[in-house]
Amino acid sequence: MFWNKSTTTLVPVSVELLIDRLRDRGWRLTSQRRVVAEVLSGPNVHLTADEVLERAQVRLPEISRATVYNTLTELVAMGEIAEVSTDERAKRYDPNPDRTHQHLVCDRCGRIVDVNPGPDAVAALPAVERHGFVLRQAEVTYRGICPECAGRAGA
Ligand SMILES: [Zn+2]
Ligand SMILES: [Zn+2]
Repeated sequence: MFWNKSTTTLVPVSVELLIDRLRDRGWRLTSQRRVVAEVLSGPNVHLTADEVLERAQVRLPEISRATVYNTLTELVAMGEIAEVSTDERAKRYDPNPDRTHQHLVCDRCGRIVDVNPGPDAVAALPAVERHGFVLRQAEVTYRGICPECAGRAGA
């Protein structure tokens, strides 16, 4: 949970960065893996693999595409990052995989913002609608137009 809902102004609480979680876990942090983890650390991070590569190369020019892609695959398998597909564009990587947050997506520019809609989305589905499934998680995507796109002339 990234936002303290008990206050009217949104205050980030207990943001545990991916890089810190990996360090705690004893994951072997080579300089290349560290750069990938750093690029993915923080709230509201939803990068495509190419964006991760681009940003990683700014910090470590010799890092290869294969290393970045392999590291992403490994982090997904470890459950430390989640793959998010909010539209037909490229898959994005979210370093906050516990799904206590949902996504707000701009239909024009594709920008993604983390939101916490409140009551547990899994609990919100009535028993009669579960068709005997044991529920694991829920993914809710809210769509609309972001303020920047709404404000753009002719948009
Ligand atoms: Zn937008
Ligand atoms: Zn997210």
